[in-house]
Amino acid sequence: MLSVIIPSYNEELNIELAAETVLELMKKEQIDCELIFIDDGSKDKTFEKITECSEKYREVKGLNFSRNFGKEAAIYAGLEESKGDCAVILDCDLQFPPEKIIEMYSLWQDGFEVVEGIKTDRGNEGIFYRLFAKSFYNIMSYFVGVDMQSTSDFKLVDRKVIDALLSLPERNTFFRALSFWSGFKSAQVEFQVRDRKNGKSKWSFKKLTKYAVSNITSFTTAPLQLITVFGSILLLFLGGMSVQTLVRFFLGQSAEGFTTVILLLLLIGGSLMMALGIIGYYIARIYEEVKGRPRYIISKKTDDEKDK
Ligand code: UDP
Ligand code: MG
Repeated sequence: MLSVIIPSYNEELNIELAAETVLELMKKEQIDCELIFIDDGSKDKTFEKITECSEKYREVKGLNFSRNFGKEAAIYAGLEESKGDCAVILDCDLQFPPEKIIEMYSLWQDGFEVVEGIKTDRGNEGIFYRLFAKSFYNIMSYFVGVDMQSTSDFKLVDRKVIDALLSLPERNTFFRALSFWSGFKSAQVEFQVRDRKNGKSKWSFKKLTKYAVSNITSFTTAPLQLITVFGSILLLFLGGMSVQTLVRFFLGQSAEGFTTVILLLLLIGGSLMMALGIIGYYIARIYEEVKGRPRYIISKKTDDEKDK
């Protein structure tokens, strides 16, 4: 069985369409499937729509988060809930073409354990978003050691991979990179990002920055090493400056240089604060992990209503 995991946040307009599109497709291809919608604490009628769908189609199931925990948590909840031999993550807005699931599924049948969806075209994204995404992926690719430029959350993973990912104790996960990291046998399927069907993208600049920073820091400690590198460079530079200062002192020209003093103070103060900030961020991460809070809290399940 194939589990289709669909994180949804304020997607009341898309739920029914997504469910019908996927179910129709699976019926046509005669693939046994279940659809798991995760309502990520939506403020609109998303969960009502999911419940409606689950009453109509027995393949549809839904979870409702008590508040917005983010897409990453939603993916994990879906994986945890899934009963299939493999699972695929799909966006509710159908920006990932559902037809590609078939292609992924047949690759899985051929023995691949991770099938990555690779974007050939980033679709209709603003220039700012594009730039941001590009630099983020460049950094990530460097750290993960795999080209992540065109990866997405559109992936099919085998039960083995699901179990491996679920057994990771960490709370701050980055699904997209972890599936690379897990190292299973993988294949790729190319797809073109489509325009959103209804509603608008949930990512504000603030949310994106948070997402990027949290993913980088949850995956690598390289920023900490960068501080050391930067510190060493600064030290070299400051060594040069001290020689110059001493020479000037002995030549009797040392009264000048007030500007230099101010600039140096600013530079050192600034870089120290930045370094502290980065370290602080990692401490915050440790703090969060140590608390061991759950990734998400489920307030309702469609199954509960069915049982009543
Ligand atoms: N999403 C979510 N929680 C969030 C934000 C988004 O579950 O906090 C879901 C959303 O419903 C959609 C998918 O993640 O199914 C991708 O979101 P969106 O289309 O807004 O992002 P974009 O396609 O612009 O990257
Ligand atoms: Mg989208």
